[in-house]
Formats: sequence, C-alpha cells, structure tokens
Amino acid sequence: MKFYIIAFLIFASFGVDIDKNTFSNYKEVKMQHLHIEWLLNLRSKIIDGSAEYTFKVTTAELKEVHLDIYQMEIKYAYYPNVGKVLDWHVESDPKQSLVQGDKLIIKLGQSYKYGDIFQLRIKYQIGEAARALSFMSIEQTDDKKAPYLFSQCEANNCRSMIPLQDTPSIKFTYSATVLTQDSQINVFMSGLPVKNNKFALMEQYNMNGIAKIFQFELNIKIPAYLIAIVAGTVQEKATSQRTSVISEAKNIDIYQKELEDLDKYVKYLEDYIGEYKWGFYKIVILPASFPFGGMENPLLTFANPSIIVGDKSGVSVAIHEIAHSWFGNTVTCNNWSNMWINEGFCVFLERKGLLQLFGEIDYVYVNSQVGTKEMNALIKEFNSSTDPVIKSYASLHPITEDHNADDSFSTIPYERGYQLLFYLESVISEIKFQQLLKDWLRQNEYQSADENDFYNFMIVWIKSNFTIEQFLAIKQQIDTVYTKWIYDTGSPPVKLGFINDASTQATDLAEDWLSSRPGEQPQGFEIFNQFKSNQKQLFLSYMQEKYTNLNTITMKQLDLSYNLSDNKDAELLFRWYTLSIQTKYATTNTNLNKIRTFVGKIGRMKMINPIYKALDKNTAQTWYDENKNFYHPLAKQSIENIIKSKSQYVNVELL
Ligand SMILES: [Zn+2]
Repeated sequence: MKFYIIAFLIFASFGVDIDKNTFSNYKEVKMQHLHIEWLLNLRSKIIDGSAEYTFKVTTAELKEVHLDIYQMEIKYAYYPNVGKVLDWHVESDPKQSLVQGDKLIIKLGQSYKYGDIFQLRIKYQIGEAARALSFMSIEQTDDKKAPYLFSQCEANNCRSMIPLQDTPSIKFTYSATVLTQDSQINVFMSGLPVKNNKFALMEQYNMNGIAKIFQFELNIKIPAYLIAIVAGTVQEKATSQRTSVISEAKNIDIYQKELEDLDKYVKYLEDYIGEYKWGFYKIVILPASFPFGGMENPLLTFANPSIIVGDKSGVSVAIHEIAHSWFGNTVTCNNWSNMWINEGFCVFLERKGLLQLFGEIDYVYVNSQVGTKEMNALIKEFNSSTDPVIKSYASLHPITEDHNADDSFSTIPYERGYQLLFYLESVISEIKFQQLLKDWLRQNEYQSADENDFYNFMIVWIKSNFTIEQFLAIKQQIDTVYTKWIYDTGSPPVKLGFINDASTQATDLAEDWLSSRPGEQPQGFEIFNQFKSNQKQLFLSYMQEKYTNLNTITMKQLDLSYNLSDNKDAELLFRWYTLSIQTKYATTNTNLNKIRTFVGKIGRMKMINPIYKALDKNTAQTWYDENKNFYHPLAKQSIENIIKSKSQYVNVELL
C-alpha cells in the first residue's frame, strides 16, 4: 500500500492545477454569476457593454478583484446596490498587452472575508480590436441585408468581449440582455432565450433608437470561453423537437437538409455516455470566414459552411461538437496545457458515435489513421524545434505561460489524447472503460479537471473494479506509458496503427500511383471514385507524406483521373491544393488560380494554414494581403505567424 501512496504523491507533485494564462486572482475570489447587457451598434462596429458579477470570496481577506481584459475601454466600476463608484486601474505589461491582454484591478474599498458574496458592475466599450469578435459588413454577408457579428472565445478571447476571470477553471451561470438598433437583426447566444423582459435594464438608453431586445440565460455553469453570440439576419429552422439549424436565409434549406439527422447523432452519443442534459441542441452555420470547423458553444454550436458537402460526409464535425456537450462543456480542462482533457476525450466519444452511425469499425479506423498521419507530421515539426515552447506543442502538456494559448492548439491534443484513451480502453476492456468514462463524468460534472485528476480517478476506479492482482498488472501497464504519453515530445510510447481493409485499400492505391510510370494510371485506379470521403482524405495524406516521390506529370494524371482540383469537398480540396504546391504542380496553367480563389472563399484555419505554409513567402504575403479583410482576427494572427516564420517552412517543405 505504502508504495502506491508514494507513487500518488509523486504524480500529484506535477502541480498543474494552476492556470498561467489568466491575470485574475481566481484562487481568491470566484465568479458565481455574470449578467451582461450589450447595445449593439453593428454599423459602427461598437458595442456598449455593462457586466454585473456575483463574486464569492475564497480567501481570508479580499481587498481587490483582478480581471482579464484585452483592448477595451473601461468606463467605470461600481457597487450596483448603493451606486458607489470604485477605484480601478489597468496593470499592463507592454510585452503581454497584445498577446494575453492586461490586468484590470478594482479596489473594493473594504475587506471581504472568506465566504462573503458581493456584486460589482463594470461599464465598458468594445470595438473592432476585440479579437473574439468578427464584425462583418453587409457586403460580407450572404443575405446582404444587415451587418453580422459572431464571436469565438476559445481559448482566451472572452476577455476581449467582457472583463472577467477568463480561465477554464472558473465556471459560472450567466444571463444577458442584447439591444439592437436594426429590426432585421436576430440574436442568439449560448443559452436559452427568455421572454417578457425578465431582466431589468442596468443602463438607461434612448429607447427610440432601440429596435429589439433579446434576453438569454444559462443556468448550467460554464467557463468564460463558452459564452457566444451571433447577430445578423439569421433565422432558425427545426430539425427535430430538440434540434435546429440557424443561418442566414440564403442556404438555410440546404443546411437543414444536410443536418436533418442531428437528433439521431445526439441519441447515438447518449447511448454510449448517458443523458444529454443541456435540453436543446442548435447549430449555427456561420459565414465562411469562421476560423474553425466547429465550436462547441452550449446550445449554440458554431460550424463552418465547409462541413456542408451535400452528401453528409462532413457531419463528423457536428458529431464532434455534440460530443463536447459531455467532454469539454460538462467536464472541462482547468487550464490550456490540459486541452486534451476536452479534445482527446471528445474525439474518443465522437468516434464511438461514428461507429454507431456507420456501423463499421473500418470507418472509424480510417479517421484515426488520417488523424494519426497529421499528428505524426506535427510531432516531427514541433519536436525538431530548438525553442522549448514550440517543442512542448508536440506533447499533451504544451507550455502556454506568457503566450497566447491559441498558439499551442493543433491536432496534437485531439489525436495524441485520443490515442492515449484508445490505448487505456484496450488495457481495461471496452465495457469497463465505458463505465469508467461515465463515472468520470458523474464525479466531475460541471467542474474542471486536469491530467492528474484523471490519473488519480482512473487508478482508484480500477482498484475498486478489478481484483488486486489485475489492478497491480493494469496499474503497471498504465504507469509505464501515462507520463510519457503526456509529457514526451516524441511519438507516443505505443504505436497504434489502426490498420484495416478500408485504409489499406486507400494506401495501396496511393502506393500504386507513387510507383506508376509518369503519365500512366495504375490498374484499378477507378476504385478511388467508390471511396468514402475519409478514405480519399487518407489517400491524399499518404501522398503528402511522400510528396517528394511525386512528379508534376503524375500529379496532372491524378488531377485528370479524379477531377481533384474541382472537387466539392473542402476536406479533399485543401489537401490536394497543399500537395499541388508542395510538388510544384500548382502553376497558373494548372490550379494555382483555383487555390488562390479557395483561400479567399474559406477562412477555416485547418484548411488554409497548410496552404500558406506550403507557399513561398512572397506569394503567401500577396494572397494574405488580398484576403485579410475577409479573415477572422484569429486566422489573421495565425497566418501572420506563418508568414513571419517563413524561412523555416521554406526549408522544411519546399527545398
Ligand atoms: Zn473539439
């Protein structure tokens, strides 16, 4: 017994239960509830905001509240009940201001004791510098009737919309009032709409200029990064009693048809993991500049229109976002170095849902292989860096201190995290692991957790669900890999192949092309047209791994054989276009102009960043300049980073 206690203590001593990406004093005082009130002026791209906080003191004596802010104008802070105005100032480190923001310090004018609860209000204004927000002009919308606004708060961008404790460690309930000046504009937020002006206005307005008032509340505690808003000429269409699709009018019928099975997807996941507790499930198909495939805002998933392919092949993104309702939104990572606690678990559940949907493990294994290939390429790239921060991005515990946590986001937490869970499942059996995950959720419901919490939970769980001999053997197996899987920057300690017939078909065909004579099609090349989308993705990923063996003649033959440059599926297009640049097939006579159009029509970072990485510096800069008004602030930041570090990529990928 003693041995195990010591082992526990050693493990717990990693001490990762701290969020280094917040300036707030969240260990001393905790947000319990947030109420925001926003007056949207979308034409001027300005929002007048007020926020009211209910705080609970968790230290012996509290005299100040420290909140995260990013590029906003604070007007004043006060106690709502007595109206007393409070002293405040902003503490700013010039090196951090545009990276993680600043610290807003509010002096409370009195001392609070442990357990005290008090309320504060802050009045402020935000504009285009708010990096969570994308203000779109009328011309940038599909319907061309009114301006459009949407948010993206993960990871630390909520602090640019609202001064708050911007850490996944802190969970709170929230409510909101949003006032619009244009009657055509509808508003949705990540909460339930409430009617009849349930919340009294905090500020005074000239009501002649107010066209509509929307109110929302969410009584389940969430972290700041799950607050979300969309405003525009958007409308909602039901796909079942509890699911719906929201978008501008132009394509809503197409989106509704493609996503008609949302309810079925929720049920598949419920079958595996238990009840869906959030009530409704709504998905917004945003404009194409949305920088991600999807974002799991509760009751208001955001998705990129590139998931709408026409044959439902892109719905795995929707299933992934639904899976976040459990992993990420119910149990949340407590800092961004532990993002795999959200994403690794979510991919694991997503693939359980895909198994039900497609009824064949091959489909899931092909997805896992595509993911593994992308993970391996990134591990190689990050692990070769001499910068310890970049190197850590290859692990499941990236260094995020003093950096924008977004910089550490990649396929790694998804696939390396998924692989760890897949391995653990193989060690303790599918049925037992399913029960373990259900119990993990129950024990940590509406809380935040990290890798140590999961390890400690898992060991205790296994001890009480196996014989002592089995427990000892399993624990030894887990201890051999767990820390390495999380902290090592090389490949995971166990190599998982996910080999199956469907993936072998795809990689064999790719191999046939690679060894074919220039200008000749390999025998049986037509089988590609019968592949599922993920097999085609695997085929192209395999080609990308070996692109130095491809010549432009074979590339041309591939293009002619499968019509790749004009494909409708963006998952295939971005891989093919990247490969076209890597192999120098892309010229103005082939598909270079199509690629140029593609990066101007889609803002999903997963799909455009590889293209920018493959381009030479001058072309990348020219194309970026052409499109930067279209891109979301987060995409702009990441492409600018790619262009800045260009010499590195030229060496790695083009020379
Ligand atoms: Zn996710």
